[in-house]
Amino acid sequence: MPNASTHRLSPWTVLDLVKWTAGYFKNHQVGNARSEAEILLAHTLDIRRIDIYLNYDQPLCEDELKRFKSLIRRRVDSEPVAYITGIREFWSLELAVNPSVLIPRPETECLVEAVLPFLDDHAGSQKRVLEMGTGSGAIIIALAHEHPEHRYVAMDRSAAALPMARRNARKHKVDHRIDWFCGDWDAALVPDRNMFDLIVSNPPYIRSRDMNGLQPEIRNHEPKMALDGSGDGLKCIRRIIESAHRYLRAGGLVALEMGYDQKMDTQSIAREAGQYGPPRIIKDYSGHDRVAVMVKKG
Ligand code: GLN
Repeated sequence: MPNASTHRLSPWTVLDLVKWTAGYFKNHQVGNARSEAEILLAHTLDIRRIDIYLNYDQPLCEDELKRFKSLIRRRVDSEPVAYITGIREFWSLELAVNPSVLIPRPETECLVEAVLPFLDDHAGSQKRVLEMGTGSGAIIIALAHEHPEHRYVAMDRSAAALPMARRNARKHKVDHRIDWFCGDWDAALVPDRNMFDLIVSNPPYIRSRDMNGLQPEIRNHEPKMALDGSGDGLKCIRRIIESAHRYLRAGGLVALEMGYDQKMDTQSIAREAGQYGPPRIIKDYSGHDRVAVMVKKG
């Protein structure tokens, strides 16, 4: 039972705290200071962010203040706000996240957008879709949510990521459309037996030497396994492109997220694989080359 002091009111109102925390975050180089202050305060009070505005004059009790302060400390210690709240929105779907999965990025929505027309065109017949390296499940869940008529398979090397992804799929009622397995890229797949119409992936693609230069939020908290593309950053992109054609029907697609400066390399890997037409490159919302889509010849 909480004791009486837990409910003692502090001298701080919601508005005081939003202002103070926004200033404090700014001084500590936390980007989006005001909005992150609001998100963390709403999380502490277990209200929606929009309700902050309706409760400006409400004082916090001592216990809430104490909990909020510990979140402020974690944020200033470079922990991403999504790991603190355990939530991130992707494709307008609320997803649970923890440090065993990469926090879904807005630019990854471009990958979802890039493959939807293919699934739309074939809406009359059931297609099989594979995601390699699903992490939080963001991509496969967004696709299954848009197109529940198709069949989906998602894999990840990380045994810790899969329960997270499944939990998210259950939350959005697409779990029964998706089969999950733990594996190292295509190692567990069998050509002819495991055939797909579409293979999507946001693989790790950061060059090893760039890993240390990442923001502390990423470098110190997000899974290295989901970021480090080893050596030139292209190890996983290469592995996927060189193997995906064995599990794809003729006319099927491989769609990959890549680094903003990896277009030429991705194009030459695809050319050398000799199994695909020239990749179509799609830019993200910031104007960077971000997604490569290639069609298996046949
Ligand atoms: N886009 C991520 C970043 O900026 C990288 C994700 C990845 O390697 N797939 O850190």
